[in-house]
Amino acid sequence: MTDTPVFPTAAISRLRMATDGEGITTLVCAWGCPLRCEYCINKFTWGENTKIERLTPQDLYDKVKLDSLYFEATGGGVTFGGGEPLLYANFFPLFRELCGTKWKLYAETSLCVPLENVRVAAEVLDGFIVDIKDTDPLIYRAYTGKDGSIALDNLRLLTTVTDPGKIRVRLPLIPGYNTEENRSRSEKILLDMGITNIERFDYIVRHE
Ligand code: SF4
Repeated sequence: MTDTPVFPTAAISRLRMATDGEGITTLVCAWGCPLRCEYCINKFTWGENTKIERLTPQDLYDKVKLDSLYFEATGGGVTFGGGEPLLYANFFPLFRELCGTKWKLYAETSLCVPLENVRVAAEVLDGFIVDIKDTDPLIYRAYTGKDGSIALDNLRLLTTVTDPGKIRVRLPLIPGYNTEENRSRSEKILLDMGITNIERFDYIVRHE
């Protein structure tokens, strides 16, 4: 007998409008992330002391289904964010079985996970919002503490197993780490992969 996968949930945020995915979405934040980005705004998802609910697919479905009419009317659904939701990719196929195809399912991810997790997620999710940071390996390591080649290799794989139109890549200007020139170099690499949905944005750093 295999155990039912659970999604360690650090937070749930309802009725989000066109911020993560299409239409009205509920954001479900995973606990845990392999990266340690300096300007992470969700550091609470890293902590040992984070209050976590270990939800089965049925548990989560029962929690979020009250917004089903909004999802269906607006083409929205559930966005899995984090933390790193693709750490728990085995959860998605069972959740999809419960919600059917009327809800859209998205993931906000760094793609810094085992390749097999990306394959599993690509089979059932409707879209990916990828936070790629920067494609330069030294910048990536300095900013996240991890090897960025995993994320880049997984992004390449993703473009081969899913429609590149379903992939939106966020390309930040990271104060103290990269420059406009670095960002333009990353953009070129993404365009060469066939990714055209690229969102440039600037991190706003607050000094306390
Ligand atoms: S990948 Fe996202 S959740 Fe993880 S540390 Fe970086 S910003 Fe935070």
